[in-house]
Amino acid sequence: MESSQHPHRRWNPLRQAWILVSPHRTQRPWQGEVAQKSPTQTVAYDPQCYLCPGNARAGGAVNPDYDSVYSFVNDYAALLPAAQPEPAPPDSPLLVSAPVRGLCKVLCFHPDHSLTLARMTRPEIRRVIDAWSAEYDETAALDWIRYIQIFENRGALMGASNPHPHCQIWSTDYVPDEPAAETAGQRDYLDRTGRCLLCEYLGQERAEQSRVIFENDHFSALVPWWAVWPFEALIVSRTHRASLPQFTADERDALADALKRMTTRYDNLFETSFPYTMGFHQAPLDGADHPEWHFHAHFYPPLLRSATIRKYMVGFEMLGMPQRDIAPESAAERLRSCSEKHFWPRE
Ligand SMILES: [Zn+2]
Ligand SMILES: [Zn+2]
Ligand SMILES: [Zn+2]
Repeated sequence: MESSQHPHRRWNPLRQAWILVSPHRTQRPWQGEVAQKSPTQTVAYDPQCYLCPGNARAGGAVNPDYDSVYSFVNDYAALLPAAQPEPAPPDSPLLVSAPVRGLCKVLCFHPDHSLTLARMTRPEIRRVIDAWSAEYDETAALDWIRYIQIFENRGALMGASNPHPHCQIWSTDYVPDEPAAETAGQRDYLDRTGRCLLCEYLGQERAEQSRVIFENDHFSALVPWWAVWPFEALIVSRTHRASLPQFTADERDALADALKRMTTRYDNLFETSFPYTMGFHQAPLDGADHPEWHFHAHFYPPLLRSATIRKYMVGFEMLGMPQRDIAPESAAERLRSCSEKHFWPRE
């Protein structure tokens, strides 16, 4: 066995945590659940869909007849923008709570119900990127917002309740745990070395190539050294940028290209509409300077070996630490070998 085929641990410097890698286990027989292939949407308009243009939403509002992107405040928001009452002092220091404020929005990528990022054109995706950036600026202008999380849940396997192409934007008056952990990781690296963690990491990956999936002029897509999910990917800007509004027009076009190519390769991997959670990590808005922060996108897809076999995070992963079977280098090789021409071309 090559050394990378032996069980080992890998360090994730972004989150400052270890991952267990057990590549020899992929040979074991599978007797678990076989999930349904995710159904492919074929109708451009679904009268039952609460995101399609002109349709009424459950809360009673009616969507305009939009022809590009469209955003609105979530009718069943997990967070509310009004200041919430300070909780009563705790009876015990072990029973602590704190008030939260936030804003939950939904952004439709396209009026066509059947599309996904993979099957949208680059100019269509560019409009979504401009909308993300405008939403970011508008929300960041609220003086109580500390973090803006843009994310897309794609496919029923990831709990997406609606196949219509859309994402959510949750903004909070505190920095959530994941970006807080990555702030600590990046700050620690900057403090120790005087350099940006992801700028350095990207240089290392580009020199080595084994985990790089593809690149364009401004972004690199790779399976990170510390990936947990089988086909996890990271898209990193090659210029040190902290957030979406800092990108030039060329960089936005390049991000559209990177999202198109990444999602197309994913769909082609198992010839299915590939499920994932995707989202951007950007600098917190806590008033401090964040020279350590480097913009990136995470893709966390659940599929393991086919369109119907998913990875579960259970057992040792819930109680001990995350573990993966297929080596990140093998996953990158699989994704590199996928075509960038979608298996289901758009008319
Ligand atoms: Zn729809
Ligand atoms: Zn950097
Ligand atoms: Zn991140």
